[in-house]
Amino acid sequence: MRTTAELAAADRAHLWHPFTQQQVWCEEEPPLVIARAQGTTLYDTEGRAYIDGISSLWCNVHGHCHPEIDAAIRAQLGRVAHSTMLGLSHEPAIELAERLLAVAPPGLARVFYSDSGSSAVEVALKMAYQRWAQQGQAQRTAFVCLQNAYHGDTLGAVSVGGIELFHSLYRPLLFETWQAPADDYAQLGTLLAQRSERVAAVIVEPLVQGAAGMLMQPPGYLRRVRELCDEHGVLLICDEVATGFGRTGRMFACEHERVSPDLLCVGKGLTGGYLPLAATLTTERIYEGFLGRFDEFRSFFHGHTYTGNPLACAAGIASLETFEREHTLARLQPKIELLTRLLEQRVAKLPAVAEVRQRGFMVGVELTHHPAHERAGHRVALAARRRGAVIRPLGDVIVLMPPLSISEHDLRRLVAITASAIAESTTRVVSAAA
Ligand SMILES: *Cc1c(COP(=O)(O)O)cnc(C)c1O
Repeated sequence: MRTTAELAAADRAHLWHPFTQQQVWCEEEPPLVIARAQGTTLYDTEGRAYIDGISSLWCNVHGHCHPEIDAAIRAQLGRVAHSTMLGLSHEPAIELAERLLAVAPPGLARVFYSDSGSSAVEVALKMAYQRWAQQGQAQRTAFVCLQNAYHGDTLGAVSVGGIELFHSLYRPLLFETWQAPADDYAQLGTLLAQRSERVAAVIVEPLVQGAAGMLMQPPGYLRRVRELCDEHGVLLICDEVATGFGRTGRMFACEHERVSPDLLCVGKGLTGGYLPLAATLTTERIYEGFLGRFDEFRSFFHGHTYTGNPLACAAGIASLETFEREHTLARLQPKIELLTRLLEQRVAKLPAVAEVRQRGFMVGVELTHHPAHERAGHRVALAARRRGAVIRPLGDVIVLMPPLSISEHDLRRLVAITASAIAESTTRVVSAAA
């Protein structure tokens, strides 16, 4: 076993981390190296314990080393680790598709697998465009997306993104999109009234714009977006990569407004947060638009090497079974209410907190304005780490997104740690400035 210091040095010598300024990474305190995990607790190489306050980047659902999910993956490993979906099939992919469709919003009838949320979005965009092109409407090349949207980091997903910091630099590489505000459907209506002939689809993150900093849409917004898409004859893509699998209190966020999209993207929590797998679900109607004789070339020409990986599918099946066996969604409701109370009591009134936003188990605590170089959100995360919780901010928004399985005890601890981390690091900023 290498020492933590050796691992940290090798990390800094060889790795390039995602969404990370490597210069700062190499200058500041050494990275936390995670050695193992159990339930909702992560352990570092020194044996120190941390609450997994962001579900290992928004994907863990039932906790780490869950016995049934572990067993399902081991059993599948004894059969085959990977076999392709191009020209072949396998039971885990078939069974997971059946189970997904059984819990998905009504009307969705087909499952197309991929391996990341970004890919699931690429698939949805290409499907929407190709579907229209094959109906003689190849002029529908544009997509409507929302301001502050985040749909992933590949170029199609970036095209429909609306976060200036992540996306503006790449504009010259991207296809045409029109943005509508995420809190005013009237403007979306006007846009569609003027340009719907050129639009393939509207893409939204239903209810909560996660990466934007947990921005909440007003009640009824999603319902109205669905109606506008129907009125103007354009497709609706709902990206539930972040909101899916119980995050908002229901299996899918769309359910809160009784909306069924034409295309639904899922990822992150699909395997319980175990393995990379994503899927794009669609209706039989869209699927049928791709049918034809072989030499009509209406196939959907898309597929990744690890699409529908059997180990990942086995984890996905086990995760959906765990939802049923452990009554995950029913047991989540009192925890959501507890979280609301705790945030009100301990966090909302802190002087450095501007706003607390919550939907289910998705929380954004927005700090009062600090200059970017102070990295207030990052300092709070470091202070939380010293107190035993791993959180990762989005700028100056502190994100809390624990696994659905977290105990009430650890939920209380997580909020308490967050509150004292905010209090400590924001006081220090004030005194440092004085
Ligand atoms: C995380 C995320 C994605 C991208 O998923 P990756 O697996 O990171 O590619 C897409 N859409 C939303 C809403 C997300 O939160």
